[in-house]
Amino acid sequence: MKTIFITLVVGHIFTIILISAYWSQHAKESTMNIFFAGKCVQAFAWFVLILRGGIPDVLTISFSNTLLFLGGSLETIALLQLQQKFQRKTKNFYYLMTFVNIATFHIVIFLKQEDIRIAVASLGLVTILFLPAYYMITEKSSSLLMRMMGYLYGIVILMLIGRALFALFLEQVIGFFIPSIYQTISFLVLFLVMILGNTGFVLLMKERADRELQHLANYDDLTGILNRRMFVNQARGSLIAYAKRKKPISLLLFDIDEFKTINDTYGHEAGDRVLQDLCKRITSFLGENDLFGRYGGDEFAILLPGTDEIESTDKAELFRQTIAAATIGDIAVRYSISIGVVTVIPDSNTQLETLYTTCDKALYGAKNNGRNGVIRL
Ligand code: GH3
Ligand code: MG
Repeated sequence: MKTIFITLVVGHIFTIILISAYWSQHAKESTMNIFFAGKCVQAFAWFVLILRGGIPDVLTISFSNTLLFLGGSLETIALLQLQQKFQRKTKNFYYLMTFVNIATFHIVIFLKQEDIRIAVASLGLVTILFLPAYYMITEKSSSLLMRMMGYLYGIVILMLIGRALFALFLEQVIGFFIPSIYQTISFLVLFLVMILGNTGFVLLMKERADRELQHLANYDDLTGILNRRMFVNQARGSLIAYAKRKKPISLLLFDIDEFKTINDTYGHEAGDRVLQDLCKRITSFLGENDLFGRYGGDEFAILLPGTDEIESTDKAELFRQTIAAATIGDIAVRYSISIGVVTVIPDSNTQLETLYTTCDKALYGAKNNGRNGVIRL
């Protein structure tokens, strides 16, 4: 038994060492802090259990289980934060549950009935683990990793419920320290919870970091719309899809008129706000399949899949008029855009570059035509 507890202590301590090493070179943040605290508390709890036999049982049982409930709650709270599910209601629920679990457990200690105590401890852990597992499985946006973790936690929860039922309804006494199949199941649960907690948490952190990096790599910082690379990637995919369907697709290219003058007159910061305002207004008109990207500076592209000549001209005209009428809060600036439009029914040879070149010529035409206009080629 003690060997098992020692492996648990060592398991948690190794995680603590690894997190500390990671920390020394990365920004500290609350999710990691909470997870770290959870690990420390749990390592300490198992350490106290190793001492069982040396100091009075009631003390080790009371102290170690209090620590285990606290540690388990902390670790689960870190998990919920990673899932962005630790809001006010959940927070209150967890504070309350941790308190209720510890209090109930202590009432049960005085009953001196080991089977009830085991049932209460097991079910207490179930109340803590249930929410993250539930969110991991049911959340639509869950990745495969998250869903998998949810199912594994589900198995752990079922094992815990089984342990509680066995404790309550079997004739046999099934404590941690009595060799039997139930003892084996208890160890398995402990190991699964530890491995799931450690590996799962680290993988989820990595998944979140990947998502953030991907966002940085694909979206424009200032305006939040697609950057050129991502726009081009997705637009190529759209062209291939619409070539198969033999449906029209339209490309709009537009550029802010006299943007240098706006920057010079109102300042670069006001210029930035113009860019943001522009993107917000245009985005509000776009559908799910439309693509909107910043090509660079004050030049933008919009791909409208399934939109023919008439519709795309209407849309371009709508964008132009909306922008020409726009005002931006406290800045007295007015601005306009010039738009080039092309529409094709693509085939397998249609290149985005060709469409872009043609569209750019149309845009150039609109600029030469006195700006604030739409030209189609
Ligand atoms: P035109 O009507 O011919 O387009 O005239 P223009 O002054 O807009 O000329 P152009 O499109 O070549 O100018 C682009 C300007 O956009 C130059 C640059 O200073 C400014 N710019 C590019 N990126 C940013 C940005 O992120 N923020 C701000 N404020 N200005 C930018
Ligand atoms: Mg310009």
